[in-house]
Amino acid sequence: MLDIKWIRKHQEEVKEAALNKRVDCPLDELLQVDDKKRLLLQQVDQQRTDRNRISAQIAQLIAQNKSEEAEVLKEEVRRHNQQLLLDEEELGKLEEQFKRLMLTVPNLASPETPIGATDQENVVLKVVGAPTEFAFEARDHMQIGEDLDLFDFPRGVKVAGSRNYYLKGFGLHLHRAVQQLAIDLLTDRGFTVMDVPLMVREETLINAAFFPAGKDQTYELPDDKWLVGTSEGPLVSYYANEIVELSQGPIRLAAVSNCFRKEAGSAGRDVRGLYRVHQFAKVEQVILCESDPDAAELLLNQITRNAEDILELLELPYRVVAVCTGDMGAKNYKQFDIETWMPSRQAYGETHSSSSLLDFQARRSGLRYRDQNGELRYCYTLNNTAVATPRILIPLLENHQQADGSIYIPKALRPYMRGLSAIPAQ
Ligand code: AMP
Repeated sequence: MLDIKWIRKHQEEVKEAALNKRVDCPLDELLQVDDKKRLLLQQVDQQRTDRNRISAQIAQLIAQNKSEEAEVLKEEVRRHNQQLLLDEEELGKLEEQFKRLMLTVPNLASPETPIGATDQENVVLKVVGAPTEFAFEARDHMQIGEDLDLFDFPRGVKVAGSRNYYLKGFGLHLHRAVQQLAIDLLTDRGFTVMDVPLMVREETLINAAFFPAGKDQTYELPDDKWLVGTSEGPLVSYYANEIVELSQGPIRLAAVSNCFRKEAGSAGRDVRGLYRVHQFAKVEQVILCESDPDAAELLLNQITRNAEDILELLELPYRVVAVCTGDMGAKNYKQFDIETWMPSRQAYGETHSSSSLLDFQARRSGLRYRDQNGELRYCYTLNNTAVATPRILIPLLENHQQADGSIYIPKALRPYMRGLSAIPAQ
């Protein structure tokens, strides 16, 4: 959330951000509602002052036994109270409208963010490794999964509907191994790793800036609970409405969690295989830091580096792209995606998303700290995937397949695979 005073002063920038991010933000309506709300608030304050003044006069008149004059003024107080009731009701409605409209305002995009409508306009910043070449006919991950009995889609669909699957045997071991590798790496790099609530209140997802926009992607449960699409929500909200201690440096949090997504609007897209499923697991990094753009920039590079290091440990070719305005999240100020080479697609596919939000999320979540002068300020927040699986199993299985049908296991993964150096061909 941006500050309304700031929005007033920078209307053109906000309009431009909404346009570039393809976000529907009725800014003029918001400002009108804010005008009305402020005017009415002044009137209500004035009426309360007047009423209190008259009430004091009544008390004086009664003390002086001037009951007739007091009665006249009492009538005036009653009129004030009636008007106040009406105005307060109207004010409540305006407050609601204001809150709803404020939630439509996107974050600005950083000056370096490429302007574009779709992911076609993302800009490649860096390419690491080269697309894998095979001296044999390579299989896609679905064929590998079937041949090695690593996952089962038909039964997943039978039991849970489309985009569902079972992971089996070495498929499950790989899924767990990449998560544990990521957890260990983040622990070594100073992250506090957590298991977080997966069923959270609507308020949590509003405050972490996933709602209202992401509501159609989220599974709703009874009792004001929603299934998280990422642990970023519960991680950012961990310190919601608290004053955190940042004098010793940023707070680094990570979670390993299942994630649930409706994938509304993606009918017909990536229907085959592990790429786009309704339930997956993710190790997520979240950082809270001081409101210093330079520090945030460094940290964005750090959390991106963490993900790159994991890909390098997995011995996978990848590239980093600067995500353009039309493809980035409305809440993000700056976003890099990491895309890993997927041989069956003959393309890089997104496996990680690294974002800096400045104080956008913190304002909604009430995340504050005291600066060196003791002044309360909103934190900056950042997040990135460390690893998301089973999507990462696509490049892992496809890039590491061998001519004999086995799958090479990268050295860094072996301690988590009971020392195995390859998944044997069957
Ligand atoms: P996001 O939280 O949307 O930035 O996504 C982070 C990562 O989670 C993506 O880069 C993917 O690796 C993974 N991911 C997101 N959505 C899905 C999905 N529906 N199925 C499988 N993996 C997903």
